[in-house]
Amino acid sequence: MTAPGRVPLVVGNWKMNLSETFAAALLADLLPKLDPFAGVEVGVAPAFTSLREVANRLAGSRVILGAQTLHWEDKGAFTGEVSPRMLVELGVRLVIVGHSERRMHFGENDERVQRKAAAARRHGLVPILCVGEQEKERDDGRTLAVVERQLRLGLAGLEVTSGSEIVVAYEPVWAIGTGRSATEEQVQEVHRMIREQLAAVFGPAPASRIRILYGGSVTAASAPGLMRLPEVDGALVGGASLDAVAFAAIVAAAA
Ligand code: PEP
Repeated sequence: MTAPGRVPLVVGNWKMNLSETFAAALLADLLPKLDPFAGVEVGVAPAFTSLREVANRLAGSRVILGAQTLHWEDKGAFTGEVSPRMLVELGVRLVIVGHSERRMHFGENDERVQRKAAAARRHGLVPILCVGEQEKERDDGRTLAVVERQLRLGLAGLEVTSGSEIVVAYEPVWAIGTGRSATEEQVQEVHRMIREQLAAVFGPAPASRIRILYGGSVTAASAPGLMRLPEVDGALVGGASLDAVAFAAIVAAAA
């Protein structure tokens, strides 16, 4: 449950799932369902190829346009990459950095994640920094140490004064796309540590306003329990964000 000073945030990570046509169809279904939940900020992160179409369809709605990654340079010889400037021009405001799928499949390490987060900030984008342990790391009792390191290195050098400049998403890797959500106790333990670390780095006042999302197999059924936890300010949603009814129910739970 989001404390005063933090507006709940629910972001759908559509991953490499929806072409422009399907993205448009999902939005047509989803947008009216979000109308009753004005107290929740909602974002969607389509594939790069759908950003323009989704931006057009979001015009006049409260839903925020997000991207799934970015490059840290403004421009140059980086074949296949997309720069923060390009995203800004399309109306993107949120950008996911350090998602475990990027870390796992595309060599995104803490140093690159930090460069991406810093580049996002330089261009006025809000990075959603994803952190989370692998199953073996949890089994070995290293969850807090791993998340602490990802957070410290990922946020290095960033300036946060209002708390709205960044969002953190705790996403245990073993819970992503597996149907196995972390338990409420596990989520609360990690979120509390993240809040403490944010306070140590940025000071208690800004840290108290930074949104910390949970992600990992969130469903309409699990969302109410998770969203009630004191340090959970919303959700980063993969699979369930592709279903308008399920995603709207998660937004409702965050409200
Ligand atoms: C994600 O990819 O960020 C995610 C949370 O996926 P899912 O909800 O499908 O576990």
